[in-house]
Amino acid sequence: MLNTLRDITQSVASAHTLELALESLVIQTKSAMETDCCSVYILEQQLLVLSATDGLEKSAVGRVRMPMSEGLVGLVAEREEAINLADAHLHPRFKLFPEANEDEYRAFLAAPIIYQKQLLGVIVVQQAKARQFNEGEEAFLMTLAAQLAMAIRGLKRRAEVHSVDSQVLFHGTCASSGVAIAHALVIGGEISLSQPEVTGTDIDAEAQRLRQAIGRSQDALLALAQRFEGDQDEELSSIFLALQTLLDDESLGGDYLREVRLGWSAESAVSRVSLRYVAQFEAMDDAYLRERASDIRDLGQRVLRQLIEPGRMNLDPDKPVILVTREADTSMLAEFPRQKLAGIVTELGGVNAHAAILARALGVPAMIGVEQVLQAELDKKLLILNAGRGLLMVSPSPSVVDEYRNLLSAQKAMARQYAEELKEPALTLDGHRIHLYLNAGLMSGVATDIAEGADGIGLYRTEIPFMLQQRFPSESEQIKVYQSVLQSAEGKPVVMRTLDVGGDKPLPYFPISEENPFLGWRGIRLSLDHPELFLVQLRAMMQAAGDSDKLKILLPMVSSIDEIDEALLYLDQAFNELKADVNPALKRPPIGVMLEVPALLFQLDEVAKRVDFVSVGSNDLTQYLLAVDRNNPRVSGLFDSFHPGILRALRRALKECSDYQLEVSVCGELAGEPMGALLLVAMGYTQLSMNQASLAKINYLLRRVERRELEQLLDLVLQMSNGQDARELVREFLSSRELASILG
Ligand code: PEP
Ligand code: MG
Repeated sequence: MLNTLRDITQSVASAHTLELALESLVIQTKSAMETDCCSVYILEQQLLVLSATDGLEKSAVGRVRMPMSEGLVGLVAEREEAINLADAHLHPRFKLFPEANEDEYRAFLAAPIIYQKQLLGVIVVQQAKARQFNEGEEAFLMTLAAQLAMAIRGLKRRAEVHSVDSQVLFHGTCASSGVAIAHALVIGGEISLSQPEVTGTDIDAEAQRLRQAIGRSQDALLALAQRFEGDQDEELSSIFLALQTLLDDESLGGDYLREVRLGWSAESAVSRVSLRYVAQFEAMDDAYLRERASDIRDLGQRVLRQLIEPGRMNLDPDKPVILVTREADTSMLAEFPRQKLAGIVTELGGVNAHAAILARALGVPAMIGVEQVLQAELDKKLLILNAGRGLLMVSPSPSVVDEYRNLLSAQKAMARQYAEELKEPALTLDGHRIHLYLNAGLMSGVATDIAEGADGIGLYRTEIPFMLQQRFPSESEQIKVYQSVLQSAEGKPVVMRTLDVGGDKPLPYFPISEENPFLGWRGIRLSLDHPELFLVQLRAMMQAAGDSDKLKILLPMVSSIDEIDEALLYLDQAFNELKADVNPALKRPPIGVMLEVPALLFQLDEVAKRVDFVSVGSNDLTQYLLAVDRNNPRVSGLFDSFHPGILRALRRALKECSDYQLEVSVCGELAGEPMGALLLVAMGYTQLSMNQASLAKINYLLRRVERRELEQLLDLVLQMSNGQDARELVREFLSSRELASILG
């Protein structure tokens, strides 16, 4: 049974059109269930349309249409549950469609096809003999309907998209609001290093293709090296330079070419050489040499991408693009030149995945969960992305483009208005000073205007410098990075978080394979298991700060008091060693923990005895309190920081921190959302840390409200039973103060 189910599901999923898929579905289901008839009805504009059948009159396909209020099929759709009848003719809802030639069938079993609460259609099996279908048959049909739902929904979407030529529309979830008008750059998913072994027919032509691909990869690496050199990041620059030389004829490049001369296609040649070297390096005892496997892998993938998707990343310097891809990862976005990136559209990803946070930090409109977008051949087409509304338009008409250009200039004018006040402090109308800090570190290099308007850096994520390297950065390399961060803050405080890799931020050279990475080896857990790495990071941070008192150190993903105690021992060790050996004037930095694992909320008394401050990571706190993966588009509708449970937890955290005199800030995305910031201020938070793009907006907003009125608003919000109603109340408040345009 399982095999039959799998075969049917696979053949539906691999069909190119909805018609073909349904055709094969009815034939295979009828045969698998040994019945006389199988039909599928698809819901189109509130009508159930007979879309494929094996048993009814073929000419009725497309012609039999019924509203949900009619017939037995309508009843299944209406009730959203299966119906199993020994004799359908006896049921009061039975309706005969003469054109379908249905009167010979008595037994009737039907199941709704539902994808994520949305009814797509109904599958029906019928038999001439009056008999009840047995439980096994009923279960089979229901399982089949559930398994097919996703494939049918995908094919249905594709059919809808292709049928509207002049104004193709895609829908998705907003990850970073804003509007972009630009041409598409479609970049396929991950390119596997294991390519099929294919022999080349024309050796010279293959060698020529390979040379071109190597040349383009070398150009791209050189450009990266120059960019990082421009950003004063010499370490990174020299790494890309070294990688570029590795592709020379005397090195890997020559090995690839030799394989082509032996008769392999260019792709097979790169794949064969890469896999061979990766295996050899990974088997080595020396840790440094073992890590070189990731260089080989990286280079192989770069050259393969140039062979398989030639010219993808060769961007026209004058034209920004809307990047369309399966799933953007942080290092891909960090490498992408900001001025070329007008917007981001992805099939996968979550609203609070780090790539989405990065898009917001960069102020780039982004939309995620856009199904079938990679199949739609969008490359080089003109797109309008209205991320706030969850809309992507393909090849829009000139009048629509004009309309959006006007909208864009209105938005730019608003942004200028917000920026004008950035130098003024965030002071509410009734005189409460809110300190606004910057979240930094998701971009390579540090934004030069970091200090403007911010009271300091409230969260510096150290992961990216680690992710862009080919190995763990050395102590001196880290010191340089951290020094540049401290310098950019121009004497204002900087909260540096120790490494929080794992989850959706893997290190290319330190692969971690886990079933549930967000519940796994992440943040402080990894650091405490590798004191040699942790100590280097702590030493580097403290040396970068020297005798300045501006550095604070923050520990991520803390879930127990023991972890804090252990981390403090390492901090003491690193501090005492440095003070004795390197700098007697060294300052011991204040230490804090992220409040993102719910259990810690209930131990704030113990936390307060040990650390100087806490920072609420509302992204992870929401993920863990609601048990909703922040990266999974299927459940992104459930990821809601306005959920009353989350709001109450945040209020309670603040109250307890005040009781224990523990300094507290919020550095999750909620702090940078206008509605979130209002509620946090209402609760009494006075330190909010957010990305550069939100800073001016939140400052502008807070300068126009009274905390007193926000407290009243909060009282009402906390009486709501769900997040949606809570948001609605805040939106109404903003409208009543003529501030709703800040929501974009
Ligand atoms: C958070 O979890 O809210 C947070 C700020 O950390 P990150 O998004 O890097 O996990
Ligand atoms: Mg976090």
